[in-house]
Amino acid sequence: MEFSLKNTMSHSAECLRKAVPLMVKYGIAVTPANYALWYSYVSGKHPKLNQKLDSALKTYGTCPPALSRDLFEEFLSDKDLELFDSVVEEISSVVESVESNVGQTLDSAIDFSEVLSSCNQELDGFSKEDAAGKDILAVVTKLSEESKSMQQTAERFQQQLRAAYQEISNLRSELKESKKAASKDALTGLNNRKSFDEDIELLCSGHHSILKLYLTFVDIDNFKKFNDDFGHQKGDMVLKVVADRLRKHADQLNAAYRFGGEEFCILSQFQDKKTALNYLEKIRVDIEKLVLKDNKSGKSLRGISASFGLAEYDGESCEMFIERADQALYRAKEAGRNCIIVV
Ligand code: GH3
Ligand code: MG
Ligand code: MG
Repeated sequence: MEFSLKNTMSHSAECLRKAVPLMVKYGIAVTPANYALWYSYVSGKHPKLNQKLDSALKTYGTCPPALSRDLFEEFLSDKDLELFDSVVEEISSVVESVESNVGQTLDSAIDFSEVLSSCNQELDGFSKEDAAGKDILAVVTKLSEESKSMQQTAERFQQQLRAAYQEISNLRSELKESKKAASKDALTGLNNRKSFDEDIELLCSGHHSILKLYLTFVDIDNFKKFNDDFGHQKGDMVLKVVADRLRKHADQLNAAYRFGGEEFCILSQFQDKKTALNYLEKIRVDIEKLVLKDNKSGKSLRGISASFGLAEYDGESCEMFIERADQALYRAKEAGRNCIIVV
């Protein structure tokens, strides 16, 4: 049993060692989630994950953050982002303790065999001389004492091994319990602001993709009036249906987020501005078709629309990129709302 545990652990250690150089090669940020993802990739546990990663690497020369997140969710849903590092640490400390205990047991076994061989020599002596009862007794006592101490060491080793197993199984249930809710917005289910901050930082800092990077702010028009005229719950309903439209159009290269309040954003990668605009126009039209209805009568209360501000990344800081997209949105509002402005 100890040996299978040791094999599993050394396999894990080997996979961890292989994952990092690959992440460096493809410009993947070393976050716990990415570490877990690439660990799975090298371990080959999920052939479908490998297929999808391979095809992303072939197409984009890297794995975009939104795709990494999707793959993580699809294949590693029972693992937790923050806890992954501590799992690795725990596994390492378990391995260390198992190894040092194995060492102790071996040392004891060596001591014991030395004692036995010295006893044998003494017994050999007895056959030549007259056997002295009390000397024999002393030898037997020595043997039994040594064997007891050997047994105690083995028992301690087993207890420690059991405790180590317990430690691992506790960690596993912790992993299952802690949800990845941390990255999602509770009301709309879209990626939240925290995810946005992480993703934009990654995309701006090491833009490896052969495509261009775009940021779009999407702000619901006259949203305050939905709250004022029909109540906060109806306002929430509007947020949800708009989020659904954004999600419908999201894919590996277009990640949608709730930025805050009634403001959303999309981080996209496209060949050029024209393709980006075509994509956004489809979403704008989809949102424009939405109508808030009265639950009971089914009567239409008011149409919904949103304004869009688009910026193409030009190597600037994240803050400046966000600032420019925000300015574009401001101009879309000034231009009469329900339209897209590019800067
Ligand atoms: P504009 O077209 O210029 O964007 O006007 P607006 O009314 O959409 O913008 P404004 O910034 O004046 O109002 C946004 C409102 O959104 C104010 C705030 O009370 C409301 N809000 C923010 N978060 C939530 C939420 O989670 N639920 C609801 N129901 N309302 C929210
Ligand atoms: Mg608004
Ligand atoms: Mg707003």
